[in-house]
Amino acid sequence: MNIVRKPSPNINTGRQGHTPDMIVCHITDGGFEGAVSWLTNPESRVSSHFVVARDGRITQLVELTDTAWANGTSGTKSNNQWHGHSTLQVVRERNVNANRYTISIEHEGRHAETAGALAPAQLEATIFLIGHIRSEVKRLFGLEIPMTRQHIVGHHEITPRTRPNCPGRLFPFDEIIRRLSENTAQPAPQNPSASPSNFAREAWEWAVQNNLIDGTNPREPATREQLVTILLRFNRMLGN
Ligand SMILES: [Zn+2]
Repeated sequence: MNIVRKPSPNINTGRQGHTPDMIVCHITDGGFEGAVSWLTNPESRVSSHFVVARDGRITQLVELTDTAWANGTSGTKSNNQWHGHSTLQVVRERNVNANRYTISIEHEGRHAETAGALAPAQLEATIFLIGHIRSEVKRLFGLEIPMTRQHIVGHHEITPRTRPNCPGRLFPFDEIIRRLSENTAQPAPQNPSASPSNFAREAWEWAVQNNLIDGTNPREPATREQLVTILLRFNRMLGN
């Protein structure tokens, strides 16, 4: 999938030393072109790292290493965007503007029509994009963003008082997390000889319990280095 770049001036360069470990999903409440235009207009004083259209187009407005003006929090208790109002523990605990440690994705849609549900092509683009963000964050910051609801969140969870409907109750967080987890999960082992033969079962379990072997590949031949390791462990087991 292709990511078109259209840089926004509405940013802070860098992240003041913070590592982005949270992806925040938004709804534009308007059309794709209008949203890109507004988020790159210096008068708007708002931006987002990405905008995903209903037809699956993706535009990047802010670099991952820079701070977008998308879902800021305030350190002032009387402010409606006070970080202490967040429903997320990690946001409440950090006395830092959430823009510094988040990556923002705007999704084209009108909340009154969709309540945050994504179009099929848009869902596929978002799943691709989050996978892309994860590999880029790993490359740039050395951090693997976990695929959990603590790290893939909605704007309404950051500032519930000012953005209760962003992106909306039908936004498919669980499906996105499930699909991305499937992509990274190891396939289940399908080895027909994964359990020992009946005659060897007792000896096998004894050897596993005594840490002589690691319990895998019971019907495979042993190499000479595996053999001497078993002998050494057995010798130590006898107290020598
Ligand atoms: Zn939002």
